[in-house]
Amino acid sequence: LDLKGSDLEKLADLGQGNGGSVEKVKHVPTGTIMAKKSVLIDAKSSVRKQILRELDIMHECNSEYIISCYGSFIEDPNVCTCIEFMDKGSFDGIYKSYGALPVEVVGRVAMSVLEGLTYLYDVHRIIHRDIKPSNILFNSEGQIKLCDFGVSGELINSIAHTFVGTSVYMSPERIQGADYSVKSDVWSLGISLIELALGAFPFTDPPDDDDLSDLEEYAGNQQKTPTHRDSFVVSHKTAKRASKRRSKLEFQPDGGLTTMSIIELMHQIVQEPSPRLPEGKFPKEAEELVDACLLKRPEDREAPKSLLYDLGTVEQAAALFELIGAKSLLIAGRTRTALMKPSQCIIPKGSQP
Ligand code: ADP
Ligand code: MG
Repeated sequence: LDLKGSDLEKLADLGQGNGGSVEKVKHVPTGTIMAKKSVLIDAKSSVRKQILRELDIMHECNSEYIISCYGSFIEDPNVCTCIEFMDKGSFDGIYKSYGALPVEVVGRVAMSVLEGLTYLYDVHRIIHRDIKPSNILFNSEGQIKLCDFGVSGELINSIAHTFVGTSVYMSPERIQGADYSVKSDVWSLGISLIELALGAFPFTDPPDDDDLSDLEEYAGNQQKTPTHRDSFVVSHKTAKRASKRRSKLEFQPDGGLTTMSIIELMHQIVQEPSPRLPEGKFPKEAEELVDACLLKRPEDREAPKSLLYDLGTVEQAAALFELIGAKSLLIAGRTRTALMKPSQCIIPKGSQP
C-alpha cells in the first residue's frame, strides 16, 4: 500500500502523548479505517528517512498480539505511521471509564502482553520499552494488541534529544541508568496489571515535607493529576531548575506533576518495596504473577517467555476458569461474553487451582 498524507481523511482525534498525536483516519482510495500516529521529529531530513527505513520492520511483524502496520511516510516535520485502528481504544481509557477491571480480564491482558513481548523478542529481537495501559489496545473482536514498541533506534534517539522522556512505568534498573533488557518490560507490565486491577495507578506521590501550603496545593491538584501521571515530558531547563529546589512539590499550571514530583516518584520506585496487589482480594495466582513481574533485581525477574511457560497446562487453566466463573464484561456499554478462553487463563508456576 503506497500511503500518502493526501489520501487520508481525518475522522477524529484519538489522543495525544509524549511528542505525538493519534488520529482516526480513512484511507480514501481503499476505504480502510486506520489510526495515524504523527511524531514530531526535530532533526535533519536524512534522520527522518533513516527512521522511515527502521519503521519498515513493523511491516514484518505478524502476530495476533501486535498491532499491524499499513505504512509510514514523512509529513514535514512529522514522521507518520498508519496502524490498525482498534475500536475499543487503549486500556487506560477502558479502566478510566469502566473502573477496576475484572481479574480475568487483567489475566487476559497479562497473557496477551507476554505473548506480544515474546514474539517481538524471539522473532525480531525487539524490546518494547514503553509498556503501559495506553499502549495496550483492545477491539470489539476481543483482541488485545501492543503498539508503540521501540522498532526504531533513531526515533528513540531523536525524541530523547528533544526531551527527557520519563515514564512512571520504568523499572528500577532503568531509572538507575543500567542496561535495558526485556525484563524491564516485565516490570512495566506488573505496574500496568495492578493499575488495571485496582482502577488506579499504584504509586502514591504524597509530599514528604511538612510544608502545609504544599500539602494544600497538592490536595487541590490531586484530582487533576491522573491524566498526566502516565508519562511526562520534561525539558532540560525545567529539570535543572527543579533539582535546585528538591524539597518542594510543584505542579504545572495544567495540574500535571512537575519534575520535582517525578524525582520523588523515581526515588520511591528505586528505594521502596515494590507495589503489590492488596492481599486476599484477588486469586493467589494473580498476586503471584504481579509479584513475579515486580521483583526489583532484574537478575531475579523472569523474561516474558519463561513467565508465559510458567502459566500452567491447559487443564489447570480450565479448572481456574471454572473457579473464577465470571464470563462477561461490560465495556463501553456493551456486554462481551467469554472474553477469556479457558486455554488463555493465567496460572503461575507451582499453583494448584
Ligand atoms: P500515549 O500512548 O502516551 O497515551 P500516544 O500518542 O501513543 O500516547 O497515543 C494517544 C492515544 O491514542 C492512546 O492513549 C490511545 O488511546 C490512542 N490510540 C493509539 N493508537 C491507537 C489505535 N491503533 N487505535 C485506537 N486508538 C489508538
Ligand atoms: Mg502510545
